[in-house]
Amino acid sequence: MNRTYYLVLFLLGMGLTQVSVAKLNIFACEPEWASLAKTLGGDQVTITAATTAHQDPHRIEPRPSLIAKVRRADLLVCSGAELEVGWLPMLQRQAGNRKVLPGQVGYFEAAEQVERLGIPKQVDRSMGDIHASGNPHVHLDPNRLLTIASALSERLKTLDPSNAAHYRSRFDDFTSRWRQALKRWQRIAKPLKGARVVVHHQDWDYLFDWLQIVKAGSLEPKPGLPTSAGHLVKLRQALIQEPAGAIVYTHYQSPKAANRLSQLTGIAALELPYTVGGGEGVTDLFSLYDETLKRLLKVIP
Ligand SMILES: [Zn+2]
Repeated sequence: MNRTYYLVLFLLGMGLTQVSVAKLNIFACEPEWASLAKTLGGDQVTITAATTAHQDPHRIEPRPSLIAKVRRADLLVCSGAELEVGWLPMLQRQAGNRKVLPGQVGYFEAAEQVERLGIPKQVDRSMGDIHASGNPHVHLDPNRLLTIASALSERLKTLDPSNAAHYRSRFDDFTSRWRQALKRWQRIAKPLKGARVVVHHQDWDYLFDWLQIVKAGSLEPKPGLPTSAGHLVKLRQALIQEPAGAIVYTHYQSPKAANRLSQLTGIAALELPYTVGGGEGVTDLFSLYDETLKRLLKVIP
C-alpha cells in the first residue's frame, strides 16, 4: 500500500518535472540570431534557423516547413528593420500563432534594440530597394551586439522566469568573454582604420562604422538592384582617382560582379563570412569576427 502510494507520488513528480523542463522553442530568422539565442539560452532552448549563411536573408521562399516551425515557436528572433519584410509577415500570417506576432512578447527584433545607421530622410521608389527603417545588418557591430544580447536575455527571462538565474549566468559569461574579445579585435584591427573598401551591398555599414573603414563604392547602383556594366565603368573611373584596398562580398552573394571589378581595377575581391556558417571554422559569433578581421587584414595589412 505504502509502496503504491510512493510510486504514485514518484510518477506525479516525473510528470511535473516533464512540464518544468519543456524548453523554449525559438525560431531565429538568421544564423547570427540562432547562434546568439543558443549562447544565451543553452540547454533550456531549442533553436531552428530559418536561413543559412548560403541564403540571402532579404529574400527566401516562405516554405510550408517554415510555417509549421513558426506555428510551434514561443519566440521569434529576427533582424527586423524590414530585412525579412519579403517573407516573415507571410509566415506569421499563415502560422496563426498569436504569441509571435509583432508587438507580442514572443517577437524580438534585434534592430529595434539599437540605434540604426542609414535611416533615410525620405523614401521613394527611385532610391531602389531601400531599408526604410534604417540598415538592418546590425550584428556586425560588436557593441550593438552586446546591447542586443542584453535585451534578448531579458526576453528569455520574461518568457521563462523559472530559469531566470540560468539565463542571467549565461549572459554574464557571454558578456565577459565578448568584452575580452572586443579588446583583442580593436587591437588587431588598427591597420584597417581609414582603409577604403568597395562593397556589394550595404551589409557592412555597421562593421565599417565600428572599424572606421571608408566605403569606397557599392556594386549595387542602388540598394537591392543588380550591378550593370555602366555602373562598373563608373566605379572603375572613381577607383582610378581614389583607389581602394578590397572589394568585399558575402558568402550568399555571387562573386561575379566583385571579380569583374577586380579584373578592371586590380583591387582584390574578398569574400567575407557575413554570418555564422559563412566560412570554414565560423561556428559562432566569436569566430565570425575573428575570421572577418583575419581576411580583411590579409588584403589590407
Ligand atoms: Zn540589406
